[in-house]
Formats: sequence, C-alpha cells, structure tokens
Amino acid sequence: MQIKALKMRWASGGVNYSYLLSKLAPPSMNAPNWIIDPAEPLELKEQLTANELQSITTIVNTHHHYDHAGGNIVFAGLLTERKNPGFIIGSSLSQTIPTSEIRQPSDGQIFHLGEKVTVESIRTPCHTQDSVCYLVNDSELNEYAIFTGDTLFTAGCGRFFEGTGYEMFSSLNHILERTKCIWDKVKVYPGHEYTKSNVKFVRNKVWKNIGDNEAFDKLESLANKNEVLTGMFTLQDELNFNPFMRLNDPFVRKAVGDSENLLSEEEVMTKLRKLKDSF
Ligand SMILES: [Zn+2]
Repeated sequence: MQIKALKMRWASGGVNYSYLLSKLAPPSMNAPNWIIDPAEPLELKEQLTANELQSITTIVNTHHHYDHAGGNIVFAGLLTERKNPGFIIGSSLSQTIPTSEIRQPSDGQIFHLGEKVTVESIRTPCHTQDSVCYLVNDSELNEYAIFTGDTLFTAGCGRFFEGTGYEMFSSLNHILERTKCIWDKVKVYPGHEYTKSNVKFVRNKVWKNIGDNEAFDKLESLANKNEVLTGMFTLQDELNFNPFMRLNDPFVRKAVGDSENLLSEEEVMTKLRKLKDSF
C-alpha cells in the first residue's frame, strides 16, 4: 500500500495530517483511492499531483471536527465533476454533501481498496462520539497501518471532548483487541503531529530522567531530529512509550499521585489526561 502524508494547518499551529491511501504509487485510476480527513483543499491541492487528485474516489473522515472534515464539500464537488464513483465515509455530523451518499461505518465494517487491500473500521468513541479508526491491511505485502484521527497520537491521546476516561481506556483497548498478534506490524498514522509537545509533557511529568523508559528516550531523540514522525511507529512502540497505554506503569501511577496503586485504570486515564490538559 502507499500512504502519502499531507500537511495542513501547520502555519497556524494546527499541525493536521490528511492522507492519500492507495494500493499503488502513483494511484491507479481504476481502483478506489482514499483521501482521509481532507480539511484544507487549497493546501492539499498544492501537495497532490494532478493524477493523484484525479484518482481520489472516496472521502473519509475519522470524526466530525472541522479541521478533519472541513474540506468535504469541496472534495465532494471534485468527485462529482469528474464523475468518479465517489462516496463519503464519515459521520452525519461531518460537513458533507450529498447526505444521501454518506456512509457511516459500523464497528468492524470492512471496505476494499482493490483485491489486496482491506480496511476495517474500529469505532473509538471519546474524543468525539463519532470517532473511528481505520485499520488497513495489504495482504500482498503483509503491511498494516492504522489511521487514528484524534484518538491515538504518538505518545499521547486526544482530548475527551465528548467522552470519559473510561471511554478512552475502552477505545484504546478496542484497537489492541482488533490488532492482537500484529501490534509490532501496525504503523500508526495520527491526525496531528503532536509528538514533540507530547514528548515534552511526558518528560516533565512521567519519565523524568533518561533511563526511566528507554523506548521513550529513543522517541525523544527522534522527535528532536525530525519534523514529520507520522508512520514511524507501531502500536507496539506506543505500548512501550505512550503513557496513556501504560496505565499500570509505576512512573505513570506516580505522575497521577497514585504510587500506592489504588486507582482503577480508567481513573488513571482520567487523571493523566487532566494533567496533560493543564500542562
Ligand atoms: Zn478532533
């Protein structure tokens, strides 16, 4: 599979990603090709070749927020003009036309990008109630990727705008259940490049010293050297260095004032997110 990461809103600090997902590079005109979270059409058009732009068949949203779904109307117009068999996967809350063509994926629904690439939707309510992650498998190349929107970030997770700590805990576990045995193969593609700020928070509040968590030390040095880190890490990496996925880690417990190990995992999740919100 081919994943082209596209920057949006970096000048204004939003540091969003949109992604072009296709089986081949350049994308085949005869196969379905997805554009995921195309919020800023002008910025995207600058980064896509004419062929890539014309190859898009499907607009996909991870959730309804404007910085993910705000370009749906423009992109839907492009698909209509070109008479592509385009349809929209997203949420009824996303800015979309025409509404009759919106497909809201149910949990576990499978989509096909040609014969060899499948995409499975994983419902992950919390950041928003309509949040959905997309797990992609290229069976020919034995490659896996997951588009996590604002649910899972590198070394972080999304704000709980419409959900609770329990829901984020459940949603992250839901991702892990669906990817059992392939955690070290599934590359993570989040909706924002928040790695640097997440690393800063984690170094200040959780693993404060070099050597506390070696996987995190490595992530920190990579974050210092690279601007774009999307697709560099797997779910197994997240399990190693993301405190929101290590709720029983003694350093994480200490960070939320629970050295005695008395809190439930969802309570640790809630407190850790509050700590991040006020950082
Ligand atoms: Zn969002």
